[in-house]
Amino acid sequence: MTPTTLLAEHEDADTGHVADLRLRWVEGFSALGPSFFTELRPTPLSGQPYWVGHSDKVAHLLGLPAAWRTDAALQALTGNTLVAGTRPLATVYSGHQFGVWAGQLGDGRAILLGETESGLEVQLKGSGLTPYSRMGDGRAVLRSSIREFLCSEAMHALGIPTTRALCVTGSDAPVRREEIETAAVVTRVAPSFIRFGHFEHFAARERDEELRALADYVIDRYYPACRSTDRFNGNAYAALLEAVSERTAALLAQWQGVGFCHGVMNTDNMSILGLTIDYGPFQFLDGFDPRHICNHSDTSGRYAYNQQPNVAYWNLFCLAQALLPLIGDQEIAVAALESYKTVFPEQYEARMRAKLGLTDRAESDRGLIEQVLKLLAQEKVDYTIFWRRLSRYMAGDNPDTVRDLFIDRNGFDSWLQSFTERHANIPSAKAADLVLASNPKFVLRNHLGQQAIEASQRKDHSGVATLLGLLESPFEEHAGHDDFAGFPPDWASTIEISCSS
Ligand code: AMP
Ligand code: MG
Repeated sequence: MTPTTLLAEHEDADTGHVADLRLRWVEGFSALGPSFFTELRPTPLSGQPYWVGHSDKVAHLLGLPAAWRTDAALQALTGNTLVAGTRPLATVYSGHQFGVWAGQLGDGRAILLGETESGLEVQLKGSGLTPYSRMGDGRAVLRSSIREFLCSEAMHALGIPTTRALCVTGSDAPVRREEIETAAVVTRVAPSFIRFGHFEHFAARERDEELRALADYVIDRYYPACRSTDRFNGNAYAALLEAVSERTAALLAQWQGVGFCHGVMNTDNMSILGLTIDYGPFQFLDGFDPRHICNHSDTSGRYAYNQQPNVAYWNLFCLAQALLPLIGDQEIAVAALESYKTVFPEQYEARMRAKLGLTDRAESDRGLIEQVLKLLAQEKVDYTIFWRRLSRYMAGDNPDTVRDLFIDRNGFDSWLQSFTERHANIPSAKAADLVLASNPKFVLRNHLGQQAIEASQRKDHSGVATLLGLLESPFEEHAGHDDFAGFPPDWASTIEISCSS
C-alpha cells in the first residue's frame, strides 16, 4: 500500500492527513501560552520513510497498542502527517554555549507533538525548519539519530536519568553535512524537555512574568515539594534551584561512575529535570583518561571527562542567575546552589562504592577509589572492561583476568590487597551481586555505534536491533555476544565525533 492510499483513510481538513496513534493527548507545556513557543507542523521528509530502530519498552510506557508500528505511525513519526489530537509546537530557549552567551536558540529541529495521558511528552527531532533553526536545515542525519536512540535507551537501562527514544525513522532524503548523508527523525520521549536555557531566555529579556510562569509550571508539575519547603524562608524558587542542583549532582555522579562524557554541556543541553538530554558527540570512555575530550569540536577541552562535574556547577550558576529575579536574594540563591558541592561527592562515592562491591562505608574508601583510578589512568586501562573483570573476579573468576590488564602488576597487586582487606567483613556473595549489577558488561562504545550505523546506511538495520537488545540489559552476560564487550579495535580511536549531526 502506498502512503498516499493509506493516508487517504485519515482525512484532516487542513492537510488532508492525520494519523491516529491511539494516544490520548493532554494540555501540558502548551498551557504556558504563545510566548513560549511557535505552533507549527513538522515538514514532510521526501522519499519513502522506513523504520531504523524502535523500542517496544518505550511504546509500552506511552501506552501505545501492541501493534503500534503501522504505516500510518511511520508516516506520522517521520513528520509526514499530523498525529490526531496534537497541536505541534517548537519551544524557544537561549543559552550559554562553550561558556559564552549565545542568545536565542530554541528548538531548531525538534517539534513537540504534545503530552500524552501517561505524563510523557513526545517530540520529533529532525522534523524540519522552525523559527529557531537559525542557519540550520532543521534536519538530523541517520548517524546521529541512531546514536541518540541507542544511547537514550542504554542510559536508561544503566539506571541513569535520561530522555527516552521510541524510534528512529529515516528516508533517503539527502542532508548536507561534511558530506551528503541521509535524513532521520528520532521520536524522543520525556516528562519534559525544559532546559536551563528556557529560564535563561526569559531572564535575559527581563520578562519576569513569563519567567515566573515557567518556574511555577515546573514546580507544580515536577517539583511540588518546593511549595511546602521550610528551607530558604519558604522560598519555592530557591527550593527549586536546590532540587535541580541535587538532581544534576546525582546525574553527574552517575555519568562519572559509568565513564560517560556528554561532550556538549551547554546550558541549553541541561535538563531542568536532571535528565541526560541532547545526545551528540557523547562517548563512553574506552581507556581511562580523565582528560579525555570526546567532542572533536571542543578544542579547549571545556567538556573533557574530568571537567564535567565543574561545568555542571557552572551551568547551575547560570540557572541561579536566571532565577534570581524570582528568588529575590543573591545570598539565598548562592545557598541553594551549595547542595551541589555536597551531593556530588556523596553520590559519586556511593556510585564508586557500589562498583567496588562495598556494602558499607569506611573512611579509607576514598583512598581506595583514588588509587584504583590512578592506576587505571597511568596505563589508560579500558574502563568498562576493568570494572567488569573485577566483578567477575569477585564472583569467582581467576584474578589474573584483572591483573593482566596492568603492566604495573605490583602496583595493582598492592591495591588488590587493600581491596581484599577492605572486603574482609563483607559477605562475598552480596558483594558479587552488587558489583555485577553496578558494572555493565555492555556500553555503547563509539565503534559499536559506528558498526550499526554503517550497516543501517546500507539498509541493514539489524545491527541497531541487536545493539539495543544488549544495551537494554547491560548487566546480563548475553552468551554469544562477547564481541560487543571486548576491547575497541584500533580504528575506534580514529572515529571523530563532532557537533555535526
Ligand atoms: P545542539 O548542539 O544539537 O544541542 O544544538 C544547539 C542549537 O542548534 C539548538 O537550538 C538546536 O535546535 C540548533 N540546531 C542544531 N542543529 C540544527 C539543524 N540541523 N537545524 C536547525 N537547528 C539546529
Ligand atoms: Mg541542544
